[in-house]
Amino acid sequence: MLSARNLTLVASILVFAAVSILLFLLPGWEPAVYPFFGLIFIWNDFRREEEVHIIFLFLVTVAAALCVARNPESSLPLALGLEALAQWLLSFGLGFHRGRMNSERHQILQAVEALDGRIRDSERDLSFYGSYQESAVHQIRMRRDLTQAAKSLGSTLDSRELELRLQRVLEGRYKGSRIQILPGTPPDPLVSYAVRSQAPVLVRDIERDERFGKEEKFHFRSALLLPLSVMKKPYGFVRMESDAVRAFDTDDLRTVDLFATVASLTLENIQLYEEVKSLALHDGLTGLYTQRAFRMRLKDELLRAGRSQTPLSMIMVDIDFFKNYNDTYGHQAGDELLRGLSRIFLNHVRPVDCVSRYGGEEFALILPNLVHSQAVELAGRIRQAAADEVFLFQGRRTRVTASFGVASFPQDATSQSQIIRVADERLYLSKQRGRNQVTG
Ligand code: GH3
Ligand code: MG
Ligand code: MG
Repeated sequence: MLSARNLTLVASILVFAAVSILLFLLPGWEPAVYPFFGLIFIWNDFRREEEVHIIFLFLVTVAAALCVARNPESSLPLALGLEALAQWLLSFGLGFHRGRMNSERHQILQAVEALDGRIRDSERDLSFYGSYQESAVHQIRMRRDLTQAAKSLGSTLDSRELELRLQRVLEGRYKGSRIQILPGTPPDPLVSYAVRSQAPVLVRDIERDERFGKEEKFHFRSALLLPLSVMKKPYGFVRMESDAVRAFDTDDLRTVDLFATVASLTLENIQLYEEVKSLALHDGLTGLYTQRAFRMRLKDELLRAGRSQTPLSMIMVDIDFFKNYNDTYGHQAGDELLRGLSRIFLNHVRPVDCVSRYGGEEFALILPNLVHSQAVELAGRIRQAAADEVFLFQGRRTRVTASFGVASFPQDATSQSQIIRVADERLYLSKQRGRNQVTG
């Protein structure tokens, strides 16, 4: 097929040939034909066919020369010369005009290109700021959620409550997922895998996950399991599951890990708090309550007894000649004796009673709901059991006795200090009367 340019060239030459033949056949009509050539020039120019234009100009000039050569005497040479010149001028004029147009067009194109470049730069900047803004908003949201979670998780001293709060925080964040906080190491394929691999487990699609056998029946499509540890010891697991495929990814693993870390820190605080509390409330040697715990408990029990109009008794105990015992058998034997006596006390009381190590070798017992006579009777039984007990220390058999003072609410006292004082006075009386006895 002919291209548009070749078509123009062929058309121009054909027109030129036809006109030239006409000129040859009709001498004298040459000047009338040249304006027609001018139109062909303009058409070629319009088609931007510069080469065709030049060839045509050349042919027109040759044609003029041939016409002049054929008929040199007439006035034709001048007319044709002028018309050929006019064609050249028209050609240059058009060329000049096109040149200017081209340069203007070039300038405009350059300006458009520069503008395009700036638009592209701006679009790139915009997309960068867009993604930056997105990540900034994401981070701000994350920080806000973490702060709220930290407030919520950090404001409890109950580990069960903390587990519930962590579960609620995660449920708020992962709506539609089932979330559990599992203490210990429950029997679960995901847990077993996490324990084996010592790492969190991320299941994107359980049906395509080679790590878990097909014989196992799972009730989820995707899951996330994160071990929780407290003071570097395993505590349990955060288990999240969803019916959707790919409900969780590694970003979620990091996010859940952050919340779990906040929860772990609070759990550490709770454990430390429990330990400190236990240290303050329990005696290190015997495991009995301390005097501080005893006082707190006595206060509560007296209030309760007052409110419910029920009796309450207390027993004060002091080991007889304990200094001698220490001097004879040694301090370690004394310690062992303190532990042995503690066991005797605990074996004689109910779970509701409170046995405390009141001082070095003094003990105090709170007996709610026990009337005075019952408390005296109990003190008598404990005294007998202590006196009958043979304590073994490094192969040596030893014995010991203790003195008792019993006081009761409401008959002896109505306040905490009063009941302790009465019990103490009665214990002193037991000592005065020869020790190894109960005064009530
Ligand atoms: P009394 O019959 O008058 O009570 O004579 P006592 O020797 O028991 O009385 P005292 O209060 O003089 O002595 C108490 C002794 O208890 C002094 C101390 O050595 C001993 N003691 C106190 N706390 C401990 C302890 O934790 N372990 C040991 N092994 N001894 C203790
Ligand atoms: Mg004493
Ligand atoms: Mg003593």
